[in-house]
Amino acid sequence: MTDTIQYQVDGEGIATFTIDLPGRSMNVLTDQLLKDLEQLVDQSLADDSVKGVLITSGKDAFLAGADLTWLVQVYGSGISAEDLYKRNRTYTDILRKMETGGKPFACAINGTCLGGGLELALGCHYRVVVDHPKAVLGLPEVQVGLLPGAGGTQRLPRLIGIQPALELITQGKHVKPGKALELGFVDAVVPADQLISAARDWLLGEPDAEQPWDKKGFKVPGGAGAFHPKAVQTFMAGSAMIAEKTRHNYPAPIAIMSCVYEGTILPMDKALQIESKYFTSLMMDPVYRNMTRTLFINKGAADKLVRRPKDVERLDVKKLGMLGAGMMGAGIAFVSARAGMDVVLLDTSKEAAEKGKDYSRGLLKKAAERGRMSPEKAEQILSRIHTTDDYADLEGADLIIEAVFESREIKADVTAKTEAVIPESSIFASNTSTLPISGLAEASKRPDQFIGLHFFSPVDKMPLVEIIMGEKTSQETLAKSLDYVQKIRKTPIVVNDSRGFYTSRCFSTYVNEGQALLKDGVHPALIENAGLLAGMPVGPFAVQDEVTLDLGVKVYKQTKLDLGDDYQPPSAIDVMLKMNDDLERKGKRFGAGFYEYPEGGKKYLWPGLAEHFPPAAEQPDVEEVKTRLLYIQALETARCFEEGVIVEPADADIGSIFGWGFPPWTGGTLSFIDTVGVREFVAECDRLAAAYGPRFEPTPGLRARAESGEAFYPRADQAQDRAA
Ligand code: NAD
Repeated sequence: MTDTIQYQVDGEGIATFTIDLPGRSMNVLTDQLLKDLEQLVDQSLADDSVKGVLITSGKDAFLAGADLTWLVQVYGSGISAEDLYKRNRTYTDILRKMETGGKPFACAINGTCLGGGLELALGCHYRVVVDHPKAVLGLPEVQVGLLPGAGGTQRLPRLIGIQPALELITQGKHVKPGKALELGFVDAVVPADQLISAARDWLLGEPDAEQPWDKKGFKVPGGAGAFHPKAVQTFMAGSAMIAEKTRHNYPAPIAIMSCVYEGTILPMDKALQIESKYFTSLMMDPVYRNMTRTLFINKGAADKLVRRPKDVERLDVKKLGMLGAGMMGAGIAFVSARAGMDVVLLDTSKEAAEKGKDYSRGLLKKAAERGRMSPEKAEQILSRIHTTDDYADLEGADLIIEAVFESREIKADVTAKTEAVIPESSIFASNTSTLPISGLAEASKRPDQFIGLHFFSPVDKMPLVEIIMGEKTSQETLAKSLDYVQKIRKTPIVVNDSRGFYTSRCFSTYVNEGQALLKDGVHPALIENAGLLAGMPVGPFAVQDEVTLDLGVKVYKQTKLDLGDDYQPPSAIDVMLKMNDDLERKGKRFGAGFYEYPEGGKKYLWPGLAEHFPPAAEQPDVEEVKTRLLYIQALETARCFEEGVIVEPADADIGSIFGWGFPPWTGGTLSFIDTVGVREFVAECDRLAAAYGPRFEPTPGLRARAESGEAFYPRADQAQDRAA
């Protein structure tokens, strides 16, 4: 018996390790578990009465992989590559000891088995999996910027062949037990009540088990090495595909390819050394730290409502009033009905509201046709959406979301009409994309119950909701709004009021910088490609065309009207005005923008751009264009932070990646500054400001940080102090 593993030897000499981490709902690989595993492996190999070892888990899942909170602390902790390599060898060595120790090991996989969990199973001589619909197996390390560092890149290809193994490892895919059996990396799939006996029977029948790769004459299924035509093809095509997909921003997939390529032509012990070296090099690179921290730890905390004020009773929204059944209203109605709420979908006429409901009809029909949902369930969801043009139907709604036209007057009008019928306790949220919440709240009798819930389009696909606190919004309203966002299974960030809030404001700097580059004579294709190479999902012109120049010009004109002389327009507004007003190229929806949209054909950059924005004779280096496009977004985020629009760096990072597609390898806009180093970031901004204009001026706060060396996130060792 150890802290994390129960140990038992039965009358027939079968030792059972039952992994069961105390105080955790899920088994994860911790330092303690590794220590305990090593101790028990040594003990059972040394004990003559032990004939074989059965490994299983005492929880619903088997083992879900590494402890991410530990993992994220490694980068920046000051550990040397040499020490890290040694440390990374611990698990590898235990598994190698198991498979070469002269006794059979069998793994009874009783549920989900991922990452280091699957590596443990692969280190056993036999793997039997429970037949359960929820059980999945896979090596998802690539999703956190890493590779399976305890033999996964070596044992899987040796079991199932290079190509299928690479597919699983480079994409981090999960498979169900049946598929794992078909692929050949588990030996049997059995009902839960036969799991342990199947593993035991095998152990008793195979006292001399050996791994296939430790037998003389072993060959990787399907072939390996530089001279095997099939393997060569796989590596050539695979490297090209990865380069296209990752644009060289993510080191893990290529490191995985290298491990498999180099490792599969070597004996296992040498191969494991290769893997450990690549694994260590990935852990010395900030990309894995950035991805793990933002995409898993901080996003996980946001999903669990880390920003929710305590001591407020939970609100379980049962009835939602949705004002406006246009593009956004229709989407919000759908996700809310899907989450079990009754939705009153109100528009200026019943017909208009029904049109909004058609959106759900379409999505549900597709889901039912593709077998993703039963027709009964689809019908049930649809029946929860009640269309109307009568405000009286909103009576009893716990929450109202407004998504009518972007007009202050219309929004004020619907606010007053709604508040006349809803309970005093109801919350009123606006989905405005540009109008400050505190201003809209003036139309409300209860501004403390007025809040911004900014959704992204298309609502059913986009994972983020930006919650905006007005000046008078209460903590209780915030807490209850967070409850709603959790219920519809979206990720919330919480920001303070500002024109464009956080996401629209920072995102707009990306498209503006694209247009500023065009004005500077940079070739449009170079600008678009630089955006993509930096890791943005879409180039700045393509995305401007999507949201339309028409909308951009409308927002500009309204803001100018609102702010008068105080308004500092975007530096390249003249480009947008020329395109939209003079050349009538208003965006994709209008059939023409920065791109041409030939009917039935593929879009291409409008050749006329060359006439109106002639390219300079000398073009900049692509790195310079990437720098301008990324830095301007990060700098605007730093401004939001200093103005108090952003309170928590995690909100900035999550919002940037999930809201507008800032590259995940950076960990988000503020992690990007930390990764570059605040001092280096400020120096680079000074250079950019001198070359391209004052929009690149670093903020006073950034200068102060550069002086003191304080990052947005505490260093790994300081974070540990804080947690303790
Ligand atoms: P839309 O034009 O598609 O829909 C607006 C709907 O509101 C229409 O169906 C219209 O009939 C209805 N409407 C207008 N006046 C009304 C009234 N007095 N009472 C009831 N219904 C009324 O617009 P949309 O794109 O869905 O945007 C709606 C809101 O969401 C706007 O405030 C917009 O800024 C915001 N928003 C839009 C996006 C986006 O990507 N489109 C993203 C985030 C937020």
